[in-house]
Amino acid sequence: MTDFAATRAAFHLPEGIIYLDGNSLGPLPKAAAARVGRTVTAEWGDMLIRAWNRAGWMEMPARLGDRIGRLIGAPPGTVVLGDTLSIKVYQALAAALELNPARRVILSDTGNFPSDLYMADGLVRTLGDGYELRTVPPEEVEAAIGPETAVLMLTEVDYRTGRLHDMAALTAKAHAAGALTVWDLAHSAGALPVDVTGAGADFAVGCTYKYLNSGPGGPAFIHVAPRWADRARPALSGWLGHEAPFAFDPAYRPGRGIERMRVGTPPVLQMAALEAALDIWDGVDMADVRARSIELSQAFVAGVEAACPALVLASPRDPARRGSQVSFRHPEGYAIMQALIARGVIGDFRAPDILRFGFTPLYTTMEEVAGAVAILAEIMEKGLWDRAEYRVKAAVT
Ligand SMILES: *Cc1c(COP(=O)(O)O)cnc(C)c1O
Repeated sequence: MTDFAATRAAFHLPEGIIYLDGNSLGPLPKAAAARVGRTVTAEWGDMLIRAWNRAGWMEMPARLGDRIGRLIGAPPGTVVLGDTLSIKVYQALAAALELNPARRVILSDTGNFPSDLYMADGLVRTLGDGYELRTVPPEEVEAAIGPETAVLMLTEVDYRTGRLHDMAALTAKAHAAGALTVWDLAHSAGALPVDVTGAGADFAVGCTYKYLNSGPGGPAFIHVAPRWADRARPALSGWLGHEAPFAFDPAYRPGRGIERMRVGTPPVLQMAALEAALDIWDGVDMADVRARSIELSQAFVAGVEAACPALVLASPRDPARRGSQVSFRHPEGYAIMQALIARGVIGDFRAPDILRFGFTPLYTTMEEVAGAVAILAEIMEKGLWDRAEYRVKAAVT
């Protein structure tokens, strides 16, 4: 059994705050500051450039990738870190399209995160040649997979509603139709059990600053199924994905396996923070996380629905059909969220009307869920959200 009291104790959680936004930015692991500090002073400071060899900086993207692999069902040597998720989406999609050269259609859903769709759109424009991005509503994806589909590109858990796609079933359908799959695990990795190998996913990508708690700007990850690893050609062919970066060969030769998905210099300080965060995950069983996540989110849904009739559940009611977040709709959602944040309950808002709450068993307790419900109930009952200051839109919502 996972010791959730121990995992909670490993985080810096500010006094008086109920944090329900770890799905957007995970909190600070207590060990991260010292770990980053050591990298700054003992490695960068004292070793200088020698740290690339002596402190193992060059191997970090693959070493930490393997630790993330355990959480998503990817075997060692099939996950590497670097860049941001948007870049990794582009990279995976470009490689997948090239592996299915007779077809031109990228199929996705209208609920996908805009950056994923923007990256696909940009890639389509660059490729020209009849390439096309087609989006359908999430519930119509399965029926839309067909003989024209080159790549099915989906985010497993919808960032707005938490709705969960069936990765194994959709991948099987895509493969039967002759398509490849690119799965975005932004709201899955660290949120629920994921088995990219069992599902047969061809490519998977995700970020580390949400449920994995690597801190703002933490690197993304990419997984390539072993059957493609030495065939996938990285469209972003940077020097650190080269077979021999320090040969400085003017001709690009892709590196072995997942190494070729590296692009440029890795973010060493961010990876140091991620390493501290992954230490916490070492003792964690994802099945326990899932069970606790459902317990927390079900209690929240029941509490909010009983106390706040004006809030409409936007997430699937069946916990088996959603990730680790719960959303409610209200026309004044933004102001209500600001009123909550002012009272120490931090969730977030997604346009046009979604109040979003993430449930993260590593540090969220049932007492906090009850506390959040009570504060939300008071805000709704007394109309405390109805103030001009709560309608002022910030740059980040
Ligand atoms: C959070 C998120 C992103 C963010 O991409 P970055 O390049 O890391 O800013 C992309 N896609 C999805 C599905 C996300 O949830």
